[in-house]
Formats: sequence, structure tokens, C-alpha cells
Amino acid sequence: MPKKKVKKAVKGVLEAVAVEGMTDILPKDGELWKLILETGKHLSELYDFHFIETPMLEVPDIFVAGIGEKAEAAAKKMYSFKTPDGQDVALRQDLSAPVLRSYIEHHLGYFASPLKVYHKGPVFRFGKVEPGMNREVRQWGFDIIGDNDAVYDIQVILASMEFLKLLKFPSLRLKINTMGCKVCRSNYHEKLKTYYRKQKTCTTCKGNIEEHPLRLFKCTTPECAELKKEAPIILDHLCQACNNHFKAVLELVEDNGVAYEPDPYFVREKEYYNRTIFEIYSGEYQYSLAGGGRYDYLSEMLFKKMIPGVGVALSLDRILEQMKARNTPHHRKDHPRVFFVAVGDQAKKMSVRLMNLLRMNNIAVIEALGKKTLSAQMKFGDRVNTPIALIFGQKEAFENTIIIRDTKSGAQETIILDRLVEETKKRLR
Ligand SMILES: [Zn+2]
Ligand SMILES: [Zn+2]
Repeated sequence: MPKKKVKKAVKGVLEAVAVEGMTDILPKDGELWKLILETGKHLSELYDFHFIETPMLEVPDIFVAGIGEKAEAAAKKMYSFKTPDGQDVALRQDLSAPVLRSYIEHHLGYFASPLKVYHKGPVFRFGKVEPGMNREVRQWGFDIIGDNDAVYDIQVILASMEFLKLLKFPSLRLKINTMGCKVCRSNYHEKLKTYYRKQKTCTTCKGNIEEHPLRLFKCTTPECAELKKEAPIILDHLCQACNNHFKAVLELVEDNGVAYEPDPYFVREKEYYNRTIFEIYSGEYQYSLAGGGRYDYLSEMLFKKMIPGVGVALSLDRILEQMKARNTPHHRKDHPRVFFVAVGDQAKKMSVRLMNLLRMNNIAVIEALGKKTLSAQMKFGDRVNTPIALIFGQKEAFENTIIIRDTKSGAQETIILDRLVEETKKRLR
């Protein structure tokens, strides 16, 4: 995502600039955006995901588990504030935690078990804006709550892959790894620490060994990148249950013909993740288009209830950017359209009711009534290129008629107003 140019502000004049890291979706991209949302909805129905929408604000504690720090320190790392009546709230940072909150609050386990939901909307990232990392991130999510079977891991993976395929993303790749469980993971972390304590890491990494050993895999200094190659991997330290689960997921991935790359150094730091984690990439584009994983510990950490879950979030802003860059074709499913011309005060006044009548009969009406003359309106009409133009002047208004013009042949015909909808429909067939 291109970084916004910061213009010099003129003192005392409010500048029309969006907050850094936040973007508008403009009318020119409307058709692609609609295609994304419609594809998501279509797929959700095919996969039997139900719609859910949670609020933009939650109590900050909901996101604390994700940050892995004490509540007070964590609250400083999110957009949190007090409402006028003194309640602490925070802009949501992810969608899985609010969905889990809703699941428990409304006993959604009784609605369906497991519960399969889809949702869309923005989440907010704290911290600096970097290339490819916005502050407001629009997402489409799939979550399956209430079952830890590998068949559900594969379903969120497949739904995301199919989503991207339908949007014509080429060469999709699944990057996948497992995070193990509490038991095997802590053994593994000890092995990792033991290994790194003996190595010459960079200073930053040295400080992370004891508390955040996984963070060392993300270091890009040459010495640490070299050390990573010899570091122990979790696959060699999984317990039997985690090993079986990962094997089951990979088998399903293969059965479904998904191109995948197991990556033992791909990790997530949030402690609520366990077992499967994944990201989806397309072609040469360096950023992931979707990312997710199993979060069986999240509910336990937040609400002291054991409720397994697995989910994915697709980055809609990146998807849109890439579709624009690739000139992804979109065929808009049009309503039949007409262009409406009205000249003169009386005709213009009456035209509002007539246009509304057409619209309520599923005919899209385009107009340029702000332009005063017939020729100026017709010129605009040429550009929008509808099969039919309806021309309504003072004479027609007086006689309760209207002119229907075939824009291709130029043939026109005067009809009585009472037959406007029928005659228009007839010619649009
Ligand atoms: Zn395990
Ligand atoms: Zn390092």
C-alpha cells in the first residue's frame, strides 16, 4: 500500500487527509469491492457459515490474551479510551475474540455445534504504519467454534483458498506449521532456549531468548538467519496427539490438492494459538492474503471456559490492491439501465416521481438533471451509454406523455405516461 504523501498544512485550514494507515475505498473501485464481498457471501453460504457481526468496541481485556502482557501494560498497546460515563473500551484488534465473547454471551453453541460463522469489517492495529501494514485493516473472517477436529481446520483453509481462487488469484500457496499444545510446546521452547543460549546471536535476540524464544525466528540479521537453519524444530518435539492432528490436517490438505509449504520456522507469538497455523500467498506478492490458525486456548485464557476454535482472516485491503494491480476483470451484473432527461422546471419536478417509479420496478435510472439544457444532458447520456433515453420536456409534462429514444438507432416514440414502466421494460428486453 503506497504511503500517503504528507502535504504541508496551511495554518488554520483543515486539511482533507485521512489518518495515516487508513484508506478510503473509492467509487472507481466499487465494482471490485462489490465482487469481493459478493464472492465472500456466496462462499459462506456454500460452506454453511452463518453471518455474525460484533461491535467495533469491546472491553479492552478481551484483547489482552492476544498481547500476552498484563492488562494494564496491554491496554496501552491498543486504541483504548474511557466512555463519558467512565467505562473502559477498546477498538477491536481481531475478530476471533469478540466472536468468542458473543458465542458465550448468547449461548451460540445451542444454535449450532460447532458454530460456523463469517464476518467482515475492520480491525485496528496499534503501532507504526509500515509498508503493507495499515492501521485499519478490513477483513473477512471465517471461524468455527466448538470442535477441535482437523476437518474444521481444513474447512477454513479451503474456504479461504476458494475465496481467492474465485477472485482469480494465481498460484496460491499455503504456508503451514503447527504450534503444538501447552505440553509439547513448553518442552520445545526449552530445547530452543538451550540451543540459542550457546550461540552468538545479535543483541536484540539475546534479550529475547528467555522470554520470547520464537521471536528469534523473525530476526533477519545474517548471523541469526544462519543460526535459524540449525535450530530445533517443533515437528521433532510434538506430543502424540499434536502429531496426529497435524498429520490429519496435512493429509486433508493433500487430498484436496492444495499446494502447500510446511515451514517449521513459521510461528505465531500469541499464546492462545495451538496446533495448526497457516498463511496463504499468491504468486510473487510478498504479503499474505489470508492468515489463521487454531486458537483452542483463547476461550480458556479469557473466559476460563474450554471452547476450541479455528479461524482465518482474509486481508481485504491487500486483496483489493492486488486485484487492481492485476486488472482483475469484473462483470457487473447490471440492472437494466435508462437515462432520464428532463428539461424545464415543471418537468424536472415531475421527473423525480417518474424516476422513482422506474427504480421501484428494478430499472436503474441515471440522470444529469443538474445540467440545464437538453443538449448538455444528452451529451452526458452519450457517455453513460444506456440502451434507452427517456426525454421529458415542458410539452410532454403538459400532455402527460414522454419520449422513449433508442440510443443506438436514434428512433424515438412518444408514449403516454401511464404506460411508462411497461413500455420501458418492453424495450429493455
Ligand atoms: Zn502437544
Ligand atoms: Zn537476531
